[in-house]
Amino acid sequence: MAKHIFITGGVVSSLGKGLTSAAIGMILEQRGLKVSMQKLDPYINVDPGTMSPYQHGEVYVLDDGAETDLDLGHYERFTHAVLRRTSNYTTGRIYSDVIARERKGDYLGSTVQVIPHITDAIKDAIRAGVTADADVCITEVGGTVGDIESLPFIEAIRQFALEKQHSEVMFVHLTLLPFLRASGELKTKPTQQSVGKLREIGIQPDVLVCRTEQPMNEDMAKKISLFCNVRQGCVIEERDVEFSIYEVPLMLVRAGLDRIIVERLGLPKDRETDLTEWSRMVEGMRRTTDTCEIAVVGKYIELHDAYKSIYESLTHAGIANRCRVKIRKVRAEDYYTKGAALIEGVDGVLVPGGFGERGVEGKIRAIQHARETGLPFFGICLGMQCATIEFARNVMGLDGAHTSEFALDTLHPVIHLMPDQEHLKEKGGNMRLGSFPCRLVAGTRAASLYGAELVHERHRHRYEFNNDYRARFVQAGMVLSGVNPERDLVEIIELPDHPFFVGVQFHPEFKSRALAPHPIFQGFVGAALAHAKNGGRRTARTLA
Ligand code: GLN
Repeated sequence: MAKHIFITGGVVSSLGKGLTSAAIGMILEQRGLKVSMQKLDPYINVDPGTMSPYQHGEVYVLDDGAETDLDLGHYERFTHAVLRRTSNYTTGRIYSDVIARERKGDYLGSTVQVIPHITDAIKDAIRAGVTADADVCITEVGGTVGDIESLPFIEAIRQFALEKQHSEVMFVHLTLLPFLRASGELKTKPTQQSVGKLREIGIQPDVLVCRTEQPMNEDMAKKISLFCNVRQGCVIEERDVEFSIYEVPLMLVRAGLDRIIVERLGLPKDRETDLTEWSRMVEGMRRTTDTCEIAVVGKYIELHDAYKSIYESLTHAGIANRCRVKIRKVRAEDYYTKGAALIEGVDGVLVPGGFGERGVEGKIRAIQHARETGLPFFGICLGMQCATIEFARNVMGLDGAHTSEFALDTLHPVIHLMPDQEHLKEKGGNMRLGSFPCRLVAGTRAASLYGAELVHERHRHRYEFNNDYRARFVQAGMVLSGVNPERDLVEIIELPDHPFFVGVQFHPEFKSRALAPHPIFQGFVGAALAHAKNGGRRTARTLA
């Protein structure tokens, strides 16, 4: 029977609850346990797929095509938990399921209410999130305790615990100890009040993880323990990391959180948490002195969360190449007006995915500069589509070539709408989504980087490379190195006479891990590092 850990947050949002949940999953795995991970989100959108990056940050796509919260990216990067559509529920999805059942008459005439119908549906969702043979299921409740929106979720997890034995369910509450500079001290009152809110509903947290910029001393822990009714040893400090988020699990184990969980849930104690490999990796990151700099030329550049998985994947590739990857964030629109001066001195250009026309011409110019000067280039989804357009216009001489996403009347729609997208009217969950196979062409850079013939990558797009132009691209020197075998769609493009020029229609950033970096990111950062070591001059082409 799987045990459950519910993770709630208090005081303020953006405390790093997703990261802490992922770190807890990871340390339990390192004790030999199998975990499953789930996020419950209080907003009313059915999924985050329709939300602007300004509102929500990145939309993280799973193998099964579910468009999910970016915290699921942390779960996948830290653990081996199998994530699927049932790993992320929103209020909107819960309500739309309940309303659909009401319309079918499933409630046999009863008045459908938050308690018990919505809370029952939430409990069903929690059970649906448990993966086969999981020892521990970690469910993170989004939002902040005390919000109107999160109430049904908090109530549902209280009921869930009531239906189980004491040793089957535990509650971890993440809170903030704000530091008041004027008085030079950390304050515990917001934590007390937030725990008070939880206890009002009937949840007594077993563990408090206290986010803080300054060390929490023993007296404070004692005070929090007394006022919040949490054992002193279970008041854990989670200080701001000095260097990298990958330090978080090490910090939590140092504070003894692994033992507390094992003790509280009666899990096997025959094995210690083994963080040898992880510590070695973090130590390696700390010690690296080599650096390369990558310009990310995008639309939502001012938002760190909009390209979260891309930044993480660059870090992973840096670990593999033993270098630190510095990121220069360049607004694509600024590139259009200011030009290459904005990326002077960088060792590579990455153009991420996106929707909407704003900034597209800037991206195309940045790609032209990278192509012409031999600067390593990596284009992802819209980035790959822009590279295709740039090549069509400037190498093949197809004036005005474009994607029909932004120029319906273009003479040369080198990127066009996929036929199965044409009839769609509604938004939400209907792009080409999830994992699809991609066959690699022998002898290409892609094949050599992956070291495989067939790979699976995750997609999220409506437009694609127009096969009517395929022969002309090949004739002009572009290599189409990856193709979807079922529908013959071009998935990877590359230029052979360039140190590194690769564009992919899929999102490799969703499959990179700290200890298993994605091969294309690894190759790209390798080429950027070679560029840096060559004094910022064009390097020869190396295959992998
Ligand atoms: N807007 C493009 C499309 O729908 C690219 C999408 C993306 O970059 N994720 O095809």
